[in-house]
Amino acid sequence: MAFKIGLLGLGTVGAGTAEILLSPDGRHPLLQELEIYRVGVRDISRTRSLQLPENVLTTDLEAIATDPEIDIVVELIGGLEPARSLILQAIASGKHVVTANKAVIARYGNEIFEAANKKGVYVMLEAAVGGGIPVIQSLKQSLVANRIKSVTGIVNGTTNYILTRMQTEGADFAEVLADAQQLGYAEADPTADVDGLDAADKIAILASLAFGGRIKLADVHCEGIRKVSAADIDYADKLGFAIKLLAIARETSRYNGKQAEAESELLSIRVHPTFVPKTHPLASVNGVYNAILVEGEPIGQLMLYGRGAGAGPTASAVVSDIMNVAAILKTETVPIPHPLLSCSHQHYCKIAPMQELVTRFYARFLTRDTPGVIGKLGTCFGNHKVSLESVVQTGIHGDLAEIVVVTHDVREGNFQQALDEIRAMEAVDSIASTLRVL
Ligand code: NAP
Repeated sequence: MAFKIGLLGLGTVGAGTAEILLSPDGRHPLLQELEIYRVGVRDISRTRSLQLPENVLTTDLEAIATDPEIDIVVELIGGLEPARSLILQAIASGKHVVTANKAVIARYGNEIFEAANKKGVYVMLEAAVGGGIPVIQSLKQSLVANRIKSVTGIVNGTTNYILTRMQTEGADFAEVLADAQQLGYAEADPTADVDGLDAADKIAILASLAFGGRIKLADVHCEGIRKVSAADIDYADKLGFAIKLLAIARETSRYNGKQAEAESELLSIRVHPTFVPKTHPLASVNGVYNAILVEGEPIGQLMLYGRGAGAGPTASAVVSDIMNVAAILKTETVPIPHPLLSCSHQHYCKIAPMQELVTRFYARFLTRDTPGVIGKLGTCFGNHKVSLESVVQTGIHGDLAEIVVVTHDVREGNFQQALDEIRAMEAVDSIASTLRVL
């Protein structure tokens, strides 16, 4: 029995997927039962290096999504539309769907999974987060016995590549970005990567799976890496940290000034450049690599590490999804929706406002070189219940002195109030940067 696959898209991931499907030797025997039946592209006249069976290429993607012969539709065109509509059409036509499209899943996942559950088909998305890293399956199945406490990831290879090069070369962001674009590590329009939007899509998906609720993308606090400077990278290094763009979802607690009370329904979910202690496992994840650290009870810490993008790694995840669906179809004994494969949640996770976040901060101030500035900063922080772990006057820049502070755990709202007052101080020229510390 052959399962007929309709591929939507034959770009980087589509071609990688087709390559695996067309070379089953030495892989799992189930691959022999998968047939590339149709492949949808935008431009059929383009020369393609891949040798496909005759007459499979078409520009009519809707015909693939609704073809009664096709068992599994694999959406690899990317973007929001027509990807969303094609996925919904495929579901309505009774097809199982495999997608690598984090943007569509993060925005329209609820609509898509509801439709799939009603129709009794699967929507699989392993490749949508972490490329070849099997993090979706791990959260949905392998870790299902745990109470998840946090998911913390480096989930965007482009920004990790840029930050790693800034760290090793001492170079500034704009310089490394331009070079990364030339080398093909960053898109011509780098917005989705460098502004943290891609990572926000991914942590929304991971949080939904880890914490069993819907996530509104608008609730994900998102800061990118454009403002990270060579000076911050240098200070981080001297203080024993690496700067990483982290995507974090964690159970959080309300801060009442004295003690933190656990409120398990509240989630903190955010993407921002972060000071990561060099001893932390995520600090040594460099270049285009991705890693996701999951903390659960009783498993403790578990880190998944690997290539988060690229034709081969991403296709590895896509094809494993196709094979998982095919394996289920072969036995036809598993009910749909399968309780461990379905992603449908009824309630929304409650998200804690950022002001309530309790974290450490790093801040760099440029101040006029007048006596007592450090004391004034310390007093202002103290007035707002921000206690300082370290304060260093690091150097003089022309008329200005540079002061770097690292705080203890503080409530973000208190820290921001202190900064507002500090900004207005006569002795303070500017707040050059503030970053959260893991
Ligand atoms: P890509 O290289 O740009 O390929 C897109 C493919 O879809 C092309 O074959 C293109 O046709 C086709 N296509 C796009 N819009 C179309 C339309 N409106 N009608 C018909 N065909 C259309 O994209 P990709 O890098 O493979 O990414 C695909 C998906 O995988 C995205 O959701 C992406 O986020 C996700 N993903 C990618 C990576 C990665 O490393 N690239 C990693 C993880 C996840 P033509 O060939 O005719 O242009």
